[in-house]
Formats: sequence, C-alpha cells, structure tokens
Amino acid sequence: MKVLSVTSECYPLIKTGGLADVSGALPPALAAEGVAVTTLIPGYPSVLAALTNVEPILQLADLFGGPARILHGTAAELDILAIDAPHLYARPANPYLGPDGLDWPDNAQRFATLGQVAAFIAGGAAAPFVPDVLHLHDWQAALAAAYVHRQEGAQPGIVATVHNLAFQGLFPAAMLQLLAITPAQFTSEGVEFHGSISFLKAALVYADRITTVSPTYADEIRTPEGGMGLDGVLRARGSDVTGILNGIDTDVWDPEIDPLIPARFGRTKPARRAANKLAVQRRFGLAQDSGALLCGVVSRLSWQKGLDLLLEALPALRAQNMQLALLGSGEPGLHAAFSAAAVRDPAYVGCVFGYDEALAHTVQAGADALLVPSRFEPCGLTQLCAQRYGAIPLVSRSGGLADTVIDANAASRAVGVATGLQFAPVTRPALEHAILRLADLWRDTAAWRRTQRNGMAMDVSWRRPAAAYAALFRQLRPHAA
Ligand code: ADP
Repeated sequence: MKVLSVTSECYPLIKTGGLADVSGALPPALAAEGVAVTTLIPGYPSVLAALTNVEPILQLADLFGGPARILHGTAAELDILAIDAPHLYARPANPYLGPDGLDWPDNAQRFATLGQVAAFIAGGAAAPFVPDVLHLHDWQAALAAAYVHRQEGAQPGIVATVHNLAFQGLFPAAMLQLLAITPAQFTSEGVEFHGSISFLKAALVYADRITTVSPTYADEIRTPEGGMGLDGVLRARGSDVTGILNGIDTDVWDPEIDPLIPARFGRTKPARRAANKLAVQRRFGLAQDSGALLCGVVSRLSWQKGLDLLLEALPALRAQNMQLALLGSGEPGLHAAFSAAAVRDPAYVGCVFGYDEALAHTVQAGADALLVPSRFEPCGLTQLCAQRYGAIPLVSRSGGLADTVIDANAASRAVGVATGLQFAPVTRPALEHAILRLADLWRDTAAWRRTQRNGMAMDVSWRRPAAAYAALFRQLRPHAA
C-alpha cells in the first residue's frame, strides 16, 4: 500500500510544532505495518538542502506565477517529493511567517500549490508512483481534497488529519478564481465558511475519513464549545471522524541513549537525572537547589497553552519552593511578562526564549515536573516526552492531555497506575490547587517515584497509532471520482 503524506512541515527538515513531529515519525512507523509513505512537502531552503539522490520527476510551467519542478529524493531517511518553486518557497526560517512576524501575504497560493500538486500526483502525474491513499495534514494540505474531488478517473482514498482545528486557512472569497475553486464548490456544503474560503473545510467535506490526534479531541471538536464553528460540519460526518492518539519517536526521545542531554538514565536508574536537573538550573540561572521541585515548560507561548494562568500562579509555585524553567517562543506579551518574572525572582523563575531542540530534551531530562496548562490541546507531545523522561506531567484535563496522563487520585494510586496530575477547569484556582497536589506528591517520595516509574513505562511509541492508521488506510480503496 502506497500513501502520499501531504504536509507543510516535517521533522527534522522543518518544524514549528507537533505537526512536524507527527509527519516525520509516522512514515517509519507505518513502514513496519507494510505501508510505504512518500512525503510531499514545499521545497523550503532547508528541505532542498537536505535532499539527496535528487531526481526531477515533473516540470510545471506556471504554478501561481512561476515555474516549478517536483523533485524526488531522500532526506532524513524519508522518501520525499519536494515542490521546488522558488517564487513561493525560497524564503528563510519560518514556513508561515515573514520576518515581520506576520503571515506571508501569499500563503493562500503557497498552500493551494501544495494541494494542487498533491491532486496532480493523485491523478497519476508522477506515475509510476500513484498513491492508494492521500494523507492530508491540516489546512495547508486540505485543499487537495477539493481538487481531487472534481478530477476525472480513479482517485486515491483521502484521509485528512486535523492537528489543530484552530488553524483553518481562511481567505477572502475574492481569491476563488485565483485558487481555481469552482463556484459549485463554494457553497456551505463545500469550502465556503461564513463568506470566506476555508481550506480546512475542504478536507472536512471531501475527505473519505477525518482523523484527529486524540479520542477526546475528536469528541470536543464536535461540540459548540470546541468546534470553532466547524462542529456541525464534523457532526454531519458521523463515524467518519475518529481520534488516533499521537506517539513520539522513541528513538529520538530515548533517555538511555539521547546525545542531547548531559546525563543519560533509564527507568531503573532515575537518580542519574540529578545531573540534568543541575544542568537545567544552571542554564536557566536558577538556584542550584536539589530539594526545590523544578517545574519545566517547553511550549509555544500562546493563549492556547494557558501560560498566562501560570504567570498568575507563580506565587503559588514559589510558596511551595518550586522553581520554573520555561523554554518557549511566541507572543511578545508573554515573553515580556515571563522575562519580568525572571528578573523579579531569578532564583525561582528562569526563561530561555527561542526554539532549541537540544534544550527541550535537557529540560525534559532534568525537570521534576512538566507543566501543560493548555486551554485546549488536540494531543500534545511534551507530556508524552515528559513521561518517557521521568518528569511528572501536570496537565489540564483537555484533549489528548486527558487521554495520555493518568491522574494521581486515590483510585489510580490505590491500583498503582497514576502517571501525573490533571486539573479542570482551566482556571487559576484549579491550577493552584493542582500545584498544591503536586507539592503533596513530591513530599511522598515513594508515591512520587512510583508515579515517575509508571510514566516511564508507558508505551508512548508510534507502534499502536501506526497500526491504527494502517488499518484505516486499508479500509479505503482507490475509487472513481
Ligand atoms: P504544538 O504543536 O501545539 O506546538 P505539541 O505539544 O503537539 O504542541 O508539540 C510541540 C513540539 O514542539 C514538541 O516536540 C516540543 O518539544 C516542541 N517545542 C515547543 N516549543 C519548543 C521550543 N521553544 N524549543 C524546542 N522545542 C519546542
């Protein structure tokens, strides 16, 4: 079975968040299930630079204002089709934002291109490579479903995965002709969303199956509270919508061999984490106190992640002798507020702003607890990394966080299965209450160790999710459009 995974980011070639982790880790996991994945991705500079064994397989004279080539090659052990279209993608750094921090003004064309090329390939333009299934990730790939839907001839099955419903790819209706969307598709049963063009809706309407990245998020997005205006569309798809939990790449995230952390450790030797804790305290300028409970955060700084609540709860952390090491980047207001907190209380609050893969590993390897107070969280990956690395996750009870952390309450502790702490609702008092529960757990050393060991033993790999994706792909057969 051949799958074309269509994505705007893919670890380690280009990454802004969990989408890249998923699209990078799923192909090798699916290979073990007998599914061969080729990844179609824009030819950003970092992608083209990494590509080896390059062979041009398709020339296109004009894709939104310039010529393009489709290059087949290998990068990071992935089978890649890269869209080499310099007028769209030869831009540095972030795949979505210009140097001013704003969306590139031609993002509609840049990601409609991704969808169009996917549709060409679905129709046989890259034969002999013809996929059985298109796997579309998020809004950036979603328009492919609309283009394929109106193509003649046999077409692959389409699975669309929603990594975050908050990002929908909305553009003005005036772009209809430019984006080659037919009037027949611009209806409320098609890609129209309150008068605008919604890329994501194209996938929600025209894909054969829709997955999202956790069962709880699959439920949440079908409610008015969590559906971001698309809950009705999703409810109408009935059992075509399912949740498949993300895993993490357990070769990249393996504390026994991780080259990015100062001291390696395993489930049987968690005491070796102490050297990592000291390294984190040093790097973040915190007091070198092994007795203080060190909390880590590795996150985009955005409203979604609930970190404004954590700011408000800093006095509650301090009262329990807890330190905070925050690695993040995002909204300037949150940067400024956390910076100010670190200046006020440097022994207890330390921040590193920016994106730093190696430091993310070290925080996970050294922090005693990892805080994820998200207002909503489709799956969340950092709590999975934390559990594998022996940092106890304290998370809000939402989306994938609810599905992957077992709250250390009386019942779960009685049977010895707890892996962390959950809180709800996502408010300051509930977070502060959870901080008190974390302090209680820390004081009960035996219970803490047990919780830590349980987390480290959890299967957070891609093995089970990949089997679920493979089973889903196999249900779909190429069909006439
Ligand atoms: P989202 O995709 O919403 O940002 P996830 O938890 O699904 O959140 O995935 C975030 C990924 O990005 C994880 O792999 C995490 O380790 C990584 N990450 C987030 N912020 C940073 C940062 N500042 N530096 C390094 N890695 C980060």
